[in-house]
Amino acid sequence: MFKEKVYWHDTVEMPSGHEANQLPQKVDVAVVGGGYTGLSAALTLAKRGVSVAVLDAETIGWGASSRNGGMVLTGLKIPMQTAIKRYGRDFARRLFQCSLDSIATVEKLCKEEAIDCGFARTGHLLAANKPKHYELLAKEAEFMAKEFEHAVRLVPRGEHRDEIGSDLYHSALVDEVSAGVNPAQYVTGLAGAAEKAGATLHARARSTSWNVGRSGFLSKRSADRFKLKTSLWPRTGTPVLPPPGYAARSCQLGRTSSPPNRCTINWPASSARITG
Ligand SMILES: Cc1cc2nc3c(=O)[nH]c(=O)nc-3n(C[C@H](O)[C@H](O)[C@H](O)COP(=O)(O)OP(=O)(O)OC[C@H]3O[C@@H](n4cnc5c(N)ncnc54)[C@H](O)[C@@H]3O)c2cc1C
Repeated sequence: MFKEKVYWHDTVEMPSGHEANQLPQKVDVAVVGGGYTGLSAALTLAKRGVSVAVLDAETIGWGASSRNGGMVLTGLKIPMQTAIKRYGRDFARRLFQCSLDSIATVEKLCKEEAIDCGFARTGHLLAANKPKHYELLAKEAEFMAKEFEHAVRLVPRGEHRDEIGSDLYHSALVDEVSAGVNPAQYVTGLAGAAEKAGATLHARARSTSWNVGRSGFLSKRSADRFKLKTSLWPRTGTPVLPPPGYAARSCQLGRTSSPPNRCTINWPASSARITG
C-alpha cells in the first residue's frame, strides 16, 4: 500500500506558528515565498541590517524546498553540451562555475549557521542502463575534462558493485564534487537562521498584488487584506526570479543503495526505469 507523504517531513519539526506573527506596517524588503530563495535572500539582507518580512501563502518551507531530492549537484538541468550550443562556450563555463559555487555556498551556510541537515560531499553517480551507454559515458568524461576542466570518474561494469551495491547497471560515472542534504532540515535551518538574523516570517500570508511606484505591497491573510509598505522596492519593477535549481534529472528508485551514499541518477534521462 502506498501512502502519499513527504518522507523528509518526518525527519524534522517543520517551521510552524508563523501565522501568529504580527505583520510589520513597513519594512525595507518584503520577500514573497519562504523557500530556499526567499529565506536565503532574507538571511543575507537581514545580516546587512535591512529590515525584511518573508510572506508565505502556506507555511514557511512548505514548497519544493522541503520536498525535493536533496541532491546538490554540479552542472545545470540541461546537459552542458546544450548549454554551450545555446549560450556559447564562455557563458556555459561561467554557468558551470556558478553550479560549483552554489554547492560551496550551501556548504558554507550550513557551517556558518550550524544547520544540521546532513550536508555531505557524497558525490553523485550517473548509472547507465544499457551496455552501449558505456561509450557515451566515456565521451561525457572526456567532454567535461576538456571543456570544463572538471574531472569525473568512469566506472566500468564489474567494478561498480562498490559504488552501487548491485550489478543491475552497466557502467557509471562518478562526480565527487556533488553533495546531498536533507532538504526539509535545510529549509528549516535556513528559516531559523533568517529569524535569528532579524527577519520576520509570516505564514498564511498570500501576496495577492503589488504596485510598482507606490511602494505598496498588498497581501492577504485568510480573510484579511493588509498592505505592507516597502522602501527598497526595485525602481524598475522587474521581478527577480530564482535561477533554476533543479539539477537532478530522475532519481533511481530501487532496492539497491549506493554504498558511499551517493545521489544516484539514471543516465541518460530518457532511459530511466523504476526498479524494486
Ligand atoms: C519533486 C522535486 C524534486 C526536486 N529535486 C531537486 C534536487 O534533488 N536538487 C535540486 O537542486 N533541486 C531539486 N528540486 C528543485 C528545488 O526543490 C527548487 O528549485 C527549490 O526548492 C526552489 O526554491 P524556492 O524557494 O524558489 O521555491 P519553493 O521552495 O517552492 O518556495 C516557494 C514558496 O512560495 C510560496 N508562495 C507561492 N505563491 C505565493 C504568494 N502569492 N504569496 C506568498 N507565498 C507564495 C509557496 O507557498 C512556497 O512555500 C526538486 C523539485 C521538486 C518539485
